[in-house]
Amino acid sequence: MTSAVIDIPSQSAADRGVPAVVGAALRVPLVTGGHIGYANLDHAASAPCLAAVQAAVDELLPWYASVHRGAGFASQVCTRVYEGARETLLDFVGARRGDEVVFTRNTTDALNLLARAVPRGTSVVVFDSEHHAALLPWAGPRVRRLSAPESPAAAVAALDEALADCPEGPRLAVLTGASNVTGELWPVAELARVARRRGARTVLDAAQLAPHRPVRIGELDVDYVALSGHKLYAPFGAGALIGRADWLNAADPYLAGGGATRVVREQSVSWTTGPERHEAGSPNTVGVHALARACQTLAANWDGVIAHEEALLRRLRAGLRHVPGVRELRLFDADHDRVGVVSFTVDGQDPGLLAAALSAEHGIGVRDGLFCAHLATRRLLARAGADAERAVRVSVGLGTTPEHVDRFLTALRTLVTDGP
Ligand code: PLP
Repeated sequence: MTSAVIDIPSQSAADRGVPAVVGAALRVPLVTGGHIGYANLDHAASAPCLAAVQAAVDELLPWYASVHRGAGFASQVCTRVYEGARETLLDFVGARRGDEVVFTRNTTDALNLLARAVPRGTSVVVFDSEHHAALLPWAGPRVRRLSAPESPAAAVAALDEALADCPEGPRLAVLTGASNVTGELWPVAELARVARRRGARTVLDAAQLAPHRPVRIGELDVDYVALSGHKLYAPFGAGALIGRADWLNAADPYLAGGGATRVVREQSVSWTTGPERHEAGSPNTVGVHALARACQTLAANWDGVIAHEEALLRRLRAGLRHVPGVRELRLFDADHDRVGVVSFTVDGQDPGLLAAALSAEHGIGVRDGLFCAHLATRRLLARAGADAERAVRVSVGLGTTPEHVDRFLTALRTLVTDGP
């Protein structure tokens, strides 16, 4: 396993022996698995692991033991690490007093957990442009899907109107921080404000937002946040649902089993309250430790992370404008703040073939398809007047250098000119 230093552009790099184009105000080493020549432009799917995260994992592995249940020293270490990770996650999202962190496998798991925990009869409002993880867990007659809005203001108005129409009883609005198709940021604080005014709770799918921008649950005034470790530069298998405890404590346990119980007798079970209620079974201590370390690393470096990604995104979009036939997908009518994700088609080109050729001939990893947001992507393709039924998605992050972006643009121009 090789470690590469990915330098975030800044002032003076020369004295640190790194290329002048990159700097060292922020150095976030990544574990690259030795594929130094490989340009990973698929950060929106899963981001490469930070070296700080790998170090955290290495540090913990010799102490690997069960949490909460063991009297031994290693169990005590792991219990402390596991519970400490909750505190880190609470800090990372600026949680309010009383909010709790339930560790899950990923965002999908977190949103499904919340879907099971909402009180019976809850009205749920969700935009149909959501990722399937946010769109599909809700079932029943009180689920209302809103058409993807064409502007942030239209989103706020549509949510307001839909919530005003909901029957009496608990209400939940499902919000997304950043689109996984276009990277565009949703007006979360404004949506949460109208939801609050209409007596609704909100859950924020922060899978795409949390790796790129600070998510402050209290400032946004959302009730729950869901996120995934593997998008936050940590390994797979750990995510979290963070937010208000009352619905979670009143719901049946997400999984029935050890760790979620208080007392078990022949005829009865009494379940514990708190996050353990929904975390039955031996938890993924190493995964949540890795997730927590990734959160700490990002939280200590936001200015550099954002500046790095914005520079890459500008370079990428400017370059794409010079490739003949490119149609960029866009959710909102005017250009809008976004994280480093761009989906596009090229007139007369098969997106699948383009993506395959970028990988096989140029060592560049992108994604093609409908990106687990079939309804949104199909609509955006139609709106863009694309002649394809799928798109190519390029997404950048801390594992991306300007050279990767340039290589991609050169390769794409070559493929478009000469054919894949
Ligand atoms: N929400 C968004 C916006 C996503 O982009 C993704 C993954 O791509 C998810 C939810 C689901 O994340 P996971 O697969 O980690 O559960």
